[in-house]
Amino acid sequence: MQVSYQYKLRPKQSQSKVMDSWLDMQRSLFNWFLADRIDGYYQTFIMGEYCDIRTKTERCPLTCSLNKNSNLHNPWKNPDKNGVIKKRSCSLMQDAYLAEIKQARPWYKAIHSNVLQMLVKRLDTAMEGFFKHGRGFPSFKNRSNFRSFQYKPGDVKLDGNKIYLPSIGWMRFYNSRPIPQGFQIRTVTLRKKADGWYTSILIRDDSVPDFPTPREINTLVGLDMGLTKLVHCSDGSDFANPRPSASKENRRTLKIRQRRLSRKNIGSANRKKEAQRVARLHKKHADKRSAYQWFVANKIVSKADAISVEHLNIKGTKAKCKPKPDDVKQGRFLKNGQSAKRGLNRSISDASWGSLIEKIQYAAAKSGKRFFKVDPKNTSRTCSKCGVVDALSRFGEKFVCTSCGHEAQADKQAALNVKIRAIKDNQLVIKKFKKVRRDSAEPKQLTLFETPNPELTGIKRRYRARNSKRGVPGNPPTQLSLWDIGDLA
Ligand SMILES: [Zn+2]
Repeated sequence: MQVSYQYKLRPKQSQSKVMDSWLDMQRSLFNWFLADRIDGYYQTFIMGEYCDIRTKTERCPLTCSLNKNSNLHNPWKNPDKNGVIKKRSCSLMQDAYLAEIKQARPWYKAIHSNVLQMLVKRLDTAMEGFFKHGRGFPSFKNRSNFRSFQYKPGDVKLDGNKIYLPSIGWMRFYNSRPIPQGFQIRTVTLRKKADGWYTSILIRDDSVPDFPTPREINTLVGLDMGLTKLVHCSDGSDFANPRPSASKENRRTLKIRQRRLSRKNIGSANRKKEAQRVARLHKKHADKRSAYQWFVANKIVSKADAISVEHLNIKGTKAKCKPKPDDVKQGRFLKNGQSAKRGLNRSISDASWGSLIEKIQYAAAKSGKRFFKVDPKNTSRTCSKCGVVDALSRFGEKFVCTSCGHEAQADKQAALNVKIRAIKDNQLVIKKFKKVRRDSAEPKQLTLFETPNPELTGIKRRYRARNSKRGVPGNPPTQLSLWDIGDLA
C-alpha cells in the first residue's frame, strides 16, 4: 500500500531562504532543459529526420538520443564490462549534462544532486505524459506554477518532530499524524504554498494490500449532489453546503482584499504583501472546503456497504448560455441569462462535487466498500414509486408525481432514484436493510386498512413519542377510512 502524508514544515529563516533560492535555480534549469528538447526536436524536424514517437522508428531528441544536432550530451553510455556500448535515453543525457552545468555555474553545486536528478526526471515524466498518455505538452514555468522539488527515496530521515533534508539540514515540522508501523519513506516532495512550506511524504508497505477485498453488499446508499444542501442521501439525511468561498460574507472579504491589492503600485513591496494576503485567503477557503469534504465523505461511507452517485458532467453544467442574436437589430444580441448563470457557476465551482466524489471513492475503497456511478439522466424527474418520467412532476423543491401522486422532497427523491438505478444496473441483491425506512428499493405498499408492521414503524414511533404533545405514543387505535366519520360524529 502506498499513501502520501502531508505535513507543514517549520523552517528557520535561513532554511526557507535556501529553499527559495533552490526553487529559483531549478526553475531556470527546468526551462532550459525543456527548451533544449524542443530545439533538438525542431532541428531534426527541419532535416526530415523526426520520428514517429509511438513506433520509435526514427531518431527524435524528445524521446530517444540518436540526434546529432542537439545540445544534448553524448548519446552513448560508457562501455560496460563486456565492452558493449548502450544508448542513453534522453533524460540520461540531460542527467549527464548536470556535471557540466555545475562547472559552468558553480552555484548549482549548492543543490543536492538527487534533487537535480529528480528535476530531469520530472521533465521526462511530463514528456512521456504528452507522448504516451495524451496529456498536455509541458509548459515553461514561472514563479507561480513552479513551487516544488523532490528528494529521492532514502534521502530523507524523520526523527520525532524533526525532518532531515540533505544539504538543508534538520528542520522542525508539525508532526500531525504518525507514520504507521512498517511503512517506508519513499519520495519526499517539498512544496511552497501561500502560508509556508509543506512536505508530502510518500510512504509504502508492500505487505499491506492496496485495497481490502470488497465486502458483501447488504446496504446501499444513493447520493444526490446539490447546492442548497451539498449532499442528499437516499436514507433521508443530508449535509449542509457551507460555501467556503461563494458565501456572501466571504466574497465581500475577498473583494475588499482584491481591491486593496489593485490600488497598490505595480512592482512595489506593498503590492507583493497584499498579494500574499489574497493568496492566504484563497488557501484558507480551499483548506476549509477539503476538510469539510473529508468529513462528509467519511460519514457517507460509514452509512452503508456500497455508495452510488451520479456520473456528473460538471463542465457541461457550467457551460455558457447560447448567445441569442437579435433579429431586428443586426449585430446585436438579446439577453440570454448568462449574467445570472455566472453566480450559479460560482456556487457550482465552490461546491466542487468532483473532488467530493473523488474523496468518497477513496474512502470507500479504503474501507472495502463498493462504489457505483450511474447515468444521471432524468434522476430528478423520475418517480421513485411508479417510474414515470415527467418534467411536470417537479416544482422546485417539491416533487408530486403526475401519474401516481407520490409526493416527496425533490432532491431526496433524486437520491432514491440514484440508488434504485445502481441496483438495477449492477443487478444487486440487497439482502437486508440496516435501518428500515421508507427508502427501500421496492417499498411495501400498504392498503388503506392494513396496519403497518410495528417493526417497520419502530423508529418513527419512538421519535413521535418523544415529541408528542399528547404523550400518547403510536397510531390511533382504529384506522379510519377517508369517508368514515366514525365515533367523532
Ligand atoms: Zn409516480
